[in-house]
Amino acid sequence: MMDVLLNSGPRRLYFDHAATTPLAPEVIAAMLPYFNASYGNPSSVHAEGRLAHEGLEAARRQVAAVLHCRPQELIFTSGGTESDNLALKGVALAQQGVGHIITSVAEHHAVLHSAEYLAHRGFKVTYLPVDRFGMVSPDAVAAAIQPDTRLISIMYANNEVGTINPIAQIAAVAQRAAVPFHSDAVQAGGSLDLDVDRLGVDLLALSAHKFYGPKGVGVLYVRGGSRLLYQQSGGSQESKRRAGTENVAGIVGLATALTIAEGKREAEAARLRGLRERLIGGVLGSIPGAILNGHPVERLPGNANFCLPDVEAETLLLRLDLLGIAASSASACTSGAVEPSHVLRAMGIPDALAVGSLRLSLGASNTEADIDYVLAKLPAVVNKLQSLKLRERSS
Ligand code: PLP
Repeated sequence: MMDVLLNSGPRRLYFDHAATTPLAPEVIAAMLPYFNASYGNPSSVHAEGRLAHEGLEAARRQVAAVLHCRPQELIFTSGGTESDNLALKGVALAQQGVGHIITSVAEHHAVLHSAEYLAHRGFKVTYLPVDRFGMVSPDAVAAAIQPDTRLISIMYANNEVGTINPIAQIAAVAQRAAVPFHSDAVQAGGSLDLDVDRLGVDLLALSAHKFYGPKGVGVLYVRGGSRLLYQQSGGSQESKRRAGTENVAGIVGLATALTIAEGKREAEAARLRGLRERLIGGVLGSIPGAILNGHPVERLPGNANFCLPDVEAETLLLRLDLLGIAASSASACTSGAVEPSHVLRAMGIPDALAVGSLRLSLGASNTEADIDYVLAKLPAVVNKLQSLKLRERSS
């Protein structure tokens, strides 16, 4: 049914790469043998098991080459959410008693809810503010550190507005205070430098489906010597830090996707930046009152996020969908009311404006023609919704 829907009618333009990306054909090809001939359990001693084990360890080496770390510093997980959970809970709970955690108000819920979980268990949590661009200040991190701070967790790049945090500076602050530093790099994977030494991070979370790999597989980098308590008990896989038979095909897919993405990262980022700037310029120039959310320069190459006045995101997304444009918004319709995003709120954007947020996240499939199409259609759609709203108000 869905197949029919997606393959018929007008060409679909996908502008939601921050939500997920399609699998690259090379990634599918690399994964296939692990569903067929190399189906063994990587913990088994026989030939079938050894073959799967070789695939798993080759994937680990591939990821390590991109992160410039040692293969044994990597733990494969079920995705970004699990990586973040393992980082926060694993570090916080590795010592007896409770302590203090520093994070920011603009994190993904995988981090925020893990911090909340720890708060319920007696941990103190400092939620640092962000500036109007959604950025965390390294000085604010330094000022928040307490003698019992166990972990600092600040995202590399924001999933909604694309703002890139000064990770290396925050890492330097953490290092001076000898506090472990975790960064949720789920949105940065495939787009930004992931060299863990250049960044200075102690933990780093990635998710394959954000860089043309499969869903349900991620990785957590944990610097050698860091204390981490496993959060999933069972077998002794992943050096006893994450129990459960490894998703070998998924992990091979993650490693292949990351290697491919790293190979073309700079060229692709430059291409996307060019498209993004045209899109931003076009939207701001053609829709009165539209504002760009996030940092004008320190932002993910493919992220464009706007607030459009007198528009409700949900309706806008449906109208765009009918025109073949897949986009998203940070605002969610919960129990009939449109709830503005916690990130936009934290940036000081009034709720009335924040409910009209539109995120267009660009990726491999997008071309200049796609941008032209959006710029040709969006202003009229917005105008239509605004006049409907005006009529609704005056009636
Ligand atoms: N962190 C960030 C910044 C994200 O954007 C996402 C996914 O959107 C996640 C964590 C969760 O990743 P996953 O979907 O792999 O669980």
